[in-house]
Amino acid sequence: MVVKFNEWADKKEKKSETAVDAMADKGYEEGYLADAIRFRMKRDGKRFWAGDNISDYLHESDKEHLINEATEAFEKVLDRLLIDRETDPNSQGTARRLAKMYFNEIMKGRYDPAPDCTAFPNDSEDCYTGMLVVRSEIRSMCSHHHQPVTGVAYIGILAAEKLIGLSKYTRLAQWCARRGTLQEELANVIAREIMKATDSEDVGVYVQATHGCCENRGIMAHSSLTQTTVLKGAFKDDPGTKKEFFDNIKLQQDFAPR
Ligand SMILES: [Zn+2]
Repeated sequence: MVVKFNEWADKKEKKSETAVDAMADKGYEEGYLADAIRFRMKRDGKRFWAGDNISDYLHESDKEHLINEATEAFEKVLDRLLIDRETDPNSQGTARRLAKMYFNEIMKGRYDPAPDCTAFPNDSEDCYTGMLVVRSEIRSMCSHHHQPVTGVAYIGILAAEKLIGLSKYTRLAQWCARRGTLQEELANVIAREIMKATDSEDVGVYVQATHGCCENRGIMAHSSLTQTTVLKGAFKDDPGTKKEFFDNIKLQQDFAPR
Protein backbone atom coordinates (compact mmCIF):
# COMPACT_ATOMS: atom_id res chain seq x y z
CA MET A 1 0.00 0.00 0.00
CA VAL A 2 2.00 2.94 -1.26
CA VAL A 3 0.21 6.17 -1.97
CA LYS A 4 2.54 9.07 -2.55
CA PHE A 5 0.36 11.76 -1.05
CA ASN A 6 2.83 14.61 -1.44
CA GLU A 7 3.34 13.98 -5.13
CA TRP A 8 -0.39 13.73 -5.53
CA ALA A 9 -0.98 17.00 -3.71
CA ASP A 10 1.32 18.77 -6.15
CA LYS A 11 -0.71 17.71 -9.15
CA LYS A 12 -3.68 19.77 -10.15
CA GLU A 13 -6.71 17.50 -10.26
CA LYS A 14 -9.49 17.99 -12.74
CA LYS A 15 -12.94 18.20 -11.12
CA SER A 16 -14.39 15.42 -13.27
CA GLU A 17 -11.61 13.00 -12.48
CA THR A 18 -12.51 10.05 -10.24
CA ALA A 19 -10.03 9.00 -7.61
CA VAL A 20 -9.42 5.79 -9.58
CA ASP A 21 -8.55 7.79 -12.71
CA ALA A 22 -6.18 9.97 -10.74
CA MET A 23 -4.49 6.94 -9.19
CA ALA A 24 -4.07 5.14 -12.50
CA ASP A 25 -2.94 8.27 -14.30
CA LYS A 26 -0.42 9.41 -11.74
CA GLY A 27 1.10 6.04 -10.93
CA TYR A 28 -0.83 5.21 -7.78
CA GLU A 29 -1.90 1.75 -8.91
CA GLU A 30 -0.35 0.23 -5.80
CA GLY A 31 -2.48 2.42 -3.56
CA TYR A 32 -5.99 1.87 -2.32
CA LEU A 33 -8.88 3.98 -3.57
CA ALA A 34 -9.99 4.41 0.06
CA ASP A 35 -6.60 5.97 0.85
CA ALA A 36 -6.89 8.33 -2.08
CA ILE A 37 -10.36 9.46 -1.00
CA ARG A 38 -9.18 9.81 2.59
CA PHE A 39 -6.31 11.95 1.34
CA ARG A 40 -8.66 14.26 -0.57
CA MET A 41 -10.89 14.73 2.46
CA LYS A 42 -7.91 15.53 4.69
CA ARG A 43 -6.56 17.95 2.11
CA ASP A 44 -9.93 19.77 2.03
CA GLY A 45 -10.37 19.73 5.80
CA LYS A 46 -13.51 17.62 5.31
CA ARG A 47 -14.51 15.77 8.47
CA PHE A 48 -15.14 12.05 7.87
CA TRP A 49 -16.25 10.73 11.24
CA ALA A 50 -18.48 7.64 11.34
CA GLY A 51 -21.62 9.79 11.42
CA ASP A 52 -20.60 12.12 8.58
CA ASN A 53 -21.90 11.88 5.04
CA ILE A 54 -19.06 11.76 2.52
CA SER A 55 -21.05 11.28 -0.69
CA ASP A 56 -19.51 14.43 -2.23
CA TYR A 57 -16.21 12.58 -2.38
CA LEU A 58 -17.53 9.42 -4.02
CA HIS A 59 -18.59 8.60 -7.53
CA GLU A 60 -21.27 5.93 -7.89
CA SER A 61 -18.70 3.71 -9.63
CA ASP A 62 -16.31 3.94 -6.65
CA LYS A 63 -18.54 1.87 -4.36
CA GLU A 64 -17.85 -1.51 -5.96
CA HIS A 65 -14.13 -0.79 -5.85
CA LEU A 66 -14.33 0.22 -2.16
CA ILE A 67 -16.31 -2.95 -1.37
CA ASN A 68 -13.52 -5.03 -2.94
CA GLU A 69 -10.91 -3.24 -0.85
CA ALA A 70 -12.94 -3.64 2.35
CA THR A 71 -13.43 -7.35 1.56
CA GLU A 72 -9.67 -7.79 1.50
CA ALA A 73 -9.39 -5.99 4.84
CA PHE A 74 -12.18 -8.06 6.46
CA GLU A 75 -10.43 -11.24 5.27
CA LYS A 76 -7.42 -10.13 7.29
CA VAL A 77 -9.59 -9.45 10.35
CA LEU A 78 -11.08 -12.97 10.15
CA ASP A 79 -7.58 -14.41 9.78
CA ARG A 80 -6.38 -12.52 12.84
CA LEU A 81 -9.42 -13.80 14.75
CA LEU A 82 -8.26 -17.33 13.80
CA ILE A 83 -11.49 -18.15 11.96
CA ASP A 84 -11.03 -20.68 9.17
CA ARG A 85 -12.60 -18.88 6.24
CA GLU A 86 -11.31 -21.53 3.82
CA THR A 87 -13.06 -24.69 5.04
CA ASP A 88 -15.79 -23.38 7.38
CA PRO A 89 -18.72 -23.12 4.93
CA ASN A 90 -20.39 -20.42 7.04
CA SER A 91 -17.32 -18.24 7.03
CA GLN A 92 -16.58 -18.52 3.34
CA GLY A 93 -17.69 -15.27 1.78
CA THR A 94 -18.25 -13.61 5.16
CA ALA A 95 -15.62 -10.94 4.47
CA ARG A 96 -17.43 -9.90 1.31
CA ARG A 97 -20.83 -10.04 3.01
CA LEU A 98 -19.51 -7.74 5.73
CA ALA A 99 -18.03 -5.28 3.23
CA LYS A 100 -21.28 -5.13 1.23
CA MET A 101 -23.36 -4.81 4.39
CA TYR A 102 -21.35 -1.81 5.60
CA PHE A 103 -21.48 0.06 2.30
CA ASN A 104 -24.99 -0.86 1.14
CA GLU A 105 -26.88 -1.23 4.40
CA ILE A 106 -25.71 -0.34 7.90
CA MET A 107 -23.56 2.65 6.84
CA LYS A 108 -25.38 3.49 3.62
CA GLY A 109 -26.22 6.98 4.90
CA ARG A 110 -22.50 7.90 4.89
CA TYR A 111 -21.94 7.06 1.25
CA ASP A 112 -25.24 7.95 -0.44
CA PRO A 113 -26.44 11.50 -1.09
CA ALA A 114 -29.53 12.80 0.73
CA PRO A 115 -32.87 11.40 -0.46
CA ASP A 116 -34.74 13.69 -2.79
CA CYS A 117 -37.30 15.66 -0.75
CA THR A 118 -39.42 17.63 -3.15
CA ALA A 119 -41.22 20.38 -1.24
CA PHE A 120 -44.81 21.39 -1.96
CA PRO A 121 -46.17 24.89 -1.37
CA ASN A 122 -48.39 25.31 1.70
CA ASP A 123 -49.42 28.90 1.18
CA SER A 124 -53.06 28.76 -0.02
CA GLU A 125 -55.89 30.25 2.01
CA ASP A 126 -56.81 26.94 3.59
CA CYS A 127 -53.23 25.81 4.13
CA TYR A 128 -52.34 23.58 7.06
CA THR A 129 -51.04 25.61 9.99
CA GLY A 130 -50.93 23.03 12.75
CA MET A 131 -48.30 20.71 14.11
CA LEU A 132 -47.22 17.61 12.23
CA VAL A 133 -45.73 14.68 14.12
CA VAL A 134 -44.27 11.74 12.21
CA ARG A 135 -43.13 8.49 13.82
CA SER A 136 -40.15 7.05 11.97
CA GLU A 137 -38.62 3.68 12.65
CA ILE A 138 -34.86 3.86 12.62
CA ARG A 139 -31.98 1.40 12.59
CA SER A 140 -28.56 2.71 13.37
CA MET A 141 -25.22 1.53 14.70
CA CYS A 142 -23.14 2.88 17.57
CA SER A 143 -19.78 4.17 16.43
CA HIS A 144 -18.08 2.86 19.59
CA HIS A 145 -18.85 -0.84 19.18
CA HIS A 146 -20.57 -1.15 15.79
CA GLN A 147 -23.56 -2.69 17.55
CA PRO A 148 -27.14 -2.09 16.39
CA VAL A 149 -29.23 0.81 17.68
CA THR A 150 -32.94 0.14 17.16
CA GLY A 151 -35.76 2.53 17.81
CA VAL A 152 -38.07 5.28 16.70
CA ALA A 153 -37.70 8.97 16.03
CA TYR A 154 -40.69 11.27 16.52
CA ILE A 155 -40.29 14.29 14.28
CA GLY A 156 -42.44 17.32 15.03
CA ILE A 157 -42.75 20.38 12.86
CA LEU A 158 -44.96 23.45 12.69
CA ALA A 159 -46.21 23.70 9.12
CA ALA A 160 -44.36 26.42 7.25
CA GLU A 161 -44.79 27.71 3.68
CA LYS A 162 -43.53 24.49 2.24
CA LEU A 163 -44.18 20.90 3.14
CA ILE A 164 -42.43 17.69 2.16
CA GLY A 165 -44.18 14.37 1.53
CA LEU A 166 -44.91 12.42 4.72
CA SER A 167 -42.66 9.50 3.77
CA LYS A 168 -39.76 11.92 3.27
CA TYR A 169 -39.44 12.58 7.01
CA THR A 170 -38.78 8.90 7.56
CA ARG A 171 -36.49 8.64 4.54
CA LEU A 172 -34.42 11.54 5.86
CA ALA A 173 -34.34 10.11 9.39
CA GLN A 174 -33.24 6.71 8.05
CA TRP A 175 -30.56 8.32 5.87
CA CYS A 176 -29.21 10.09 8.99
CA ALA A 177 -29.41 6.90 11.04
CA ARG A 178 -27.68 4.53 8.61
CA ARG A 179 -24.24 5.57 9.81
CA GLY A 180 -22.09 5.09 12.87
CA THR A 181 -23.76 7.36 15.39
CA LEU A 182 -24.25 8.29 19.00
CA GLN A 183 -27.90 8.68 19.88
CA GLU A 184 -27.28 12.20 21.22
CA GLU A 185 -25.73 13.14 17.89
CA LEU A 186 -28.36 11.38 15.81
CA ALA A 187 -31.27 13.46 17.16
CA ASN A 188 -29.29 16.61 16.29
CA VAL A 189 -28.46 15.45 12.78
CA ILE A 190 -32.10 14.51 12.07
CA ALA A 191 -33.30 17.93 13.32
CA ARG A 192 -30.73 19.74 11.17
CA GLU A 193 -31.66 17.82 8.00
CA ILE A 194 -35.42 18.28 8.56
CA MET A 195 -34.87 22.04 9.02
CA LYS A 196 -32.83 22.10 5.81
CA ALA A 197 -35.44 20.20 3.79
CA THR A 198 -38.46 22.17 5.02
CA ASP A 199 -37.02 25.64 5.70
CA SER A 200 -38.81 25.46 9.04
CA GLU A 201 -37.13 26.76 12.19
CA ASP A 202 -39.65 25.07 14.46
CA VAL A 203 -38.65 21.45 14.75
CA GLY A 204 -38.63 18.87 17.53
CA VAL A 205 -36.99 15.44 17.42
CA TYR A 206 -37.42 12.79 20.09
CA VAL A 207 -35.52 9.52 19.71
CA GLN A 208 -36.17 6.41 21.76
CA ALA A 209 -33.87 3.46 21.16
CA THR A 210 -32.31 0.30 22.50
CA HIS A 211 -28.58 -0.24 22.10
CA GLY A 212 -26.91 -3.49 21.17
CA CYS A 213 -23.76 -2.38 22.97
CA CYS A 214 -25.72 -2.32 26.26
CA GLU A 215 -27.73 -5.47 25.50
CA ASN A 216 -25.23 -7.86 23.92
CA ARG A 217 -22.12 -6.98 25.89
CA GLY A 218 -21.01 -4.84 28.81
CA ILE A 219 -23.90 -4.41 31.23
CA MET A 220 -26.09 -6.91 29.27
CA ALA A 221 -29.17 -4.83 30.03
CA HIS A 222 -31.97 -6.32 27.97
CA SER A 223 -34.59 -3.70 28.62
CA SER A 224 -32.59 -0.50 28.73
CA LEU A 225 -34.08 2.34 26.73
CA THR A 226 -32.40 5.63 25.88
CA GLN A 227 -34.31 8.79 25.09
CA THR A 228 -32.93 11.97 23.55
CA THR A 229 -34.70 15.20 22.64
CA VAL A 230 -33.70 18.11 20.44
CA LEU A 231 -36.00 21.14 20.37
CA LYS A 232 -35.64 24.11 18.02
CA GLY A 233 -37.55 27.37 17.65
CA ALA A 234 -41.08 27.33 19.09
CA PHE A 235 -40.58 23.74 20.29
CA LYS A 236 -37.92 25.08 22.61
CA ASP A 237 -39.25 28.53 23.44
CA ASP A 238 -43.01 28.05 23.61
CA PRO A 239 -44.21 25.79 26.45
CA GLY A 240 -47.55 25.21 24.66
CA THR A 241 -45.84 23.90 21.50
CA LYS A 242 -43.50 21.74 23.53
CA LYS A 243 -46.40 20.24 25.47
CA GLU A 244 -48.40 19.59 22.29
CA PHE A 245 -45.38 17.77 20.82
CA PHE A 246 -45.02 15.46 23.81
CA ASP A 247 -48.80 14.94 24.05
CA ASN A 248 -48.71 13.85 20.39
CA ILE A 249 -45.86 11.45 21.10
CA LYS A 250 -47.83 9.99 24.01
CA LEU A 251 -50.86 9.51 21.72
CA GLN A 252 -48.66 7.84 19.09
CA GLN A 253 -47.15 5.54 21.71
CA ASP A 254 -50.59 4.60 23.00
CA PHE A 255 -52.02 3.82 19.56
CA ALA A 256 -49.23 3.15 17.09
CA PRO A 257 -48.73 -0.47 15.99
CA ARG A 258 -45.65 -2.00 17.53
ZN1 LIG B 1 -21.59 1.23 21.77
